[in-house]
Amino acid sequence: MSEKRLAVASVAFDERVEALVLQVLRSGRIAQGVIVEAVESAVANVLGVSHVVAMNNGTSTLIAALHLLGVGRGDEVITSPFTFGATLNAILAVGATARFADIDGDDFNMSPTSVESIIGERTVALVPVHLFGQTADMTSLCAIAERHGLAVVEDAAQALGARHAGRSAGSFGVGSFSMYATKNVTSGEGGLLTTDDATLAAAARRFRNQGMDGGYMYESFGLNLRLTDVHAAIALPQLERLDQINADRVGNAARLSGALRGSEGLVPPPTLPANDHVFHQYTVRLDPLRHDRSTVKQQLALAGIDTAVYYPRLLFDYPYFAAAPGVVHDHCPVAAATTHQVLSLPVHQHLTASDVDRIADVVERALR
Ligand SMILES: *Cc1c(COP(=O)(O)O)cnc(C)c1O
Repeated sequence: MSEKRLAVASVAFDERVEALVLQVLRSGRIAQGVIVEAVESAVANVLGVSHVVAMNNGTSTLIAALHLLGVGRGDEVITSPFTFGATLNAILAVGATARFADIDGDDFNMSPTSVESIIGERTVALVPVHLFGQTADMTSLCAIAERHGLAVVEDAAQALGARHAGRSAGSFGVGSFSMYATKNVTSGEGGLLTTDDATLAAAARRFRNQGMDGGYMYESFGLNLRLTDVHAAIALPQLERLDQINADRVGNAARLSGALRGSEGLVPPPTLPANDHVFHQYTVRLDPLRHDRSTVKQQLALAGIDTAVYYPRLLFDYPYFAAAPGVVHDHCPVAAATTHQVLSLPVHQHLTASDVDRIADVVERALR
């Protein structure tokens, strides 16, 4: 029994990445430069957006988007409580108050109906999170935003290349992507802000560079949020084959769902009709009345299959966030129940078909 361990996330680079990183190292120009620019145009091309501004990580692009849209103290921003802490930290970083919409039963994303029920006088922006690689219902959310005059910042950290109604994630509002080590495309750390607004893009370029336009022309508040060419060189060859990376993940997900469809007390992740999912995570729901999740997780681990719980709690249920000014406890029963059901299985592009079959077999056995 020396079967290899299958991890939820796996990082492996081909020779093109190695060659480009080496080329940058030898060029002597390792800070933000031409390779960052090449990443920005590659992403603009793939997503069909006019402007892409690369930054040092996806938390920075979220903060930049909110700040540059004028969101700040006294403003309310509506997001999902079932997400990574960065989404909430970004809202708090600009001094705004976070409100939480419940999620939809199926797709783990913010429910438009729930959003509408908490919009108030102070609401200025929506931050839908495209969780696990599938966009929220952007058709409905954009209609709501338009009706109430709200800005939209898409936390698309997990959804590079995902589409809704034929349009890319990140093209509906101001988009924010992450290239952290575990994301579908990685530069180790990295972020991408997307927009069709030339003025906002120019402001984002200044904001990431101490508020400067060119050399020592301070025009506005800014920070150092630049990405390096070394990091960009890791990402660029992956961006050139983004469709293949995502197609491999989608194929693995389909194979898993085909095999697991009959398992009792397990619901495979659905893809909503208008969506192209990119399966950053393959997250099943286990019926807590039928299965003890930690036992299942343990059995899988013993068989060499790593899994993860994204996310074990709602953000406002952590003592720190619960006590933080600017965090409102909204009623989110579906999201709360979901935290007890979810389990993410490996789905990444480095798995073989037989790896996927092995995962499905082990899951089926663990549930029996
Ligand atoms: C990864 C992630 C982020 C933050 O990205 P970093 O690059 O790690 O700063 C934000 N939101 C979600 C939902 C994420 O998964």
